[in-house]
Amino acid sequence: MSTAQADPVAKAMRSFIGDIGPTIALALESCMHCGQCAEACQYYVQTGDARYTPIHKIEPLKQVYHREVGPFAFAYKFFGMAPKLTTEKLTEWQDLIYDSCNMCGRCSLICPMGIDIADLVEQTRHGMYEAGLAPADFLGVLAEKEHASGSPFGLTSTQFQDLLHDIGRKYGVVMHVDERQADIVPTVSSIDVKTYPGSMAAIAKILNHIGAPWSFRTDGFDADNVSLTAGDRAGQNVITQSIVKAAIACGAKTLVMPECGHSFTEMRWEAANTYGKDLPFRVVQITELIAENISSGNIRVNQITQNATYHDACQLSRRGGATAAPRVILAALGVTLHEMEDAGDANWCCGGGGGTALIKRAQPLRDKAFAIKQKQVEATGADVIYTSCSGCRQTLDHGGKSAGWNKTVGSLLELVADNLIPRARSDLSEIKPQIIPMPGNAPMPVAE
Ligand code: SF4
Ligand code: SF4
Repeated sequence: MSTAQADPVAKAMRSFIGDIGPTIALALESCMHCGQCAEACQYYVQTGDARYTPIHKIEPLKQVYHREVGPFAFAYKFFGMAPKLTTEKLTEWQDLIYDSCNMCGRCSLICPMGIDIADLVEQTRHGMYEAGLAPADFLGVLAEKEHASGSPFGLTSTQFQDLLHDIGRKYGVVMHVDERQADIVPTVSSIDVKTYPGSMAAIAKILNHIGAPWSFRTDGFDADNVSLTAGDRAGQNVITQSIVKAAIACGAKTLVMPECGHSFTEMRWEAANTYGKDLPFRVVQITELIAENISSGNIRVNQITQNATYHDACQLSRRGGATAAPRVILAALGVTLHEMEDAGDANWCCGGGGGTALIKRAQPLRDKAFAIKQKQVEATGADVIYTSCSGCRQTLDHGGKSAGWNKTVGSLLELVADNLIPRARSDLSEIKPQIIPMPGNAPMPVAE
């Protein structure tokens, strides 16, 4: 029996108490129980079950705060107002903290007290992970990655290098790998590696077209988020730091995050905290890089005739700030965009965010969550659904198949790569790659 199994409550308590700083304390003290967050959450809306009220999901963290940390801890204990944490209680809460929260942050957006409930769910997951109580599906994926490569990355540097060369050959695109100097460093998501390798070729094709020195780095490439969504903060930090170090090693000015939601917010908002100071490069999502190069005239694309809708990944738009960029791209392509109700920052999750797609037993709940998206997509009458997150793409692919859709789900990145207009020879001397160092990691301004 592992230590975590031997004393899960002590481990969860230690993690919760360690994580509760002034921000979390203020959030937990501020809730006025208005219930507005319930109406923002797809699990509550689709089931009407009060257990799925967002603020209720973090009850274990709240109880530890009131009993052990808060200003009235003595009274809470004395009058039994905050029950003691038990393994049974934590186990019972597993489906609320993992299965029924995709960390979409819709509740955080609507809360009148500004409480970031999605962030509190992440902290609660951290305690659960430390206690060894993350769902077995998450632990299985993490162990598989570790086992496959002897590292938390799932692929060794050599395997990644071979993969890039294979993709380069297959798609006929020049791959730059481990260049000593690179202004732009792209990363990849594990879903792309397994399911959508064409998106790695698309990134390379677009970066070759932009014309600035760029390079994949085999010592920091994996824009992974399973550790983050499982609650394994230390594991996530190892991955984040490897990317930061690799980008610094080649003097990168721009780190490009792939079509992946959670890895983007992690790198854009958290990496500097893990690194301990401001990052010496900016962090952009691939749609932001494309949009700024379209706006400057450095990327030109064919006009295509399509009726399409765009699914905003929660972590890219609401949580990440990359809401305008995909619309700049779709407009440049001449796509007729049929926006879904609540499109943009108020979008609904595809149903598979926050790692919930990994949890097998959560499929019925996931289907209920997906039903909102399905209804919204169908109401647009669009033939194609574009997205810029491989996780969302996978969920929409699966959900669409079960729903018997006659619609195509596509990657916006791949659409651009397929429609680049090659430069005339006379244009080549005019290349002005858009590499604009930005202070900190503020969201990129893009043309409206
Ligand atoms: S919306 Fe905010 S204040 Fe209202 S119940 Fe939810 S967390 Fe509490
Ligand atoms: S983050 Fe999203 S899924 Fe989780 S509780 Fe809030 S609204 Fe519900």
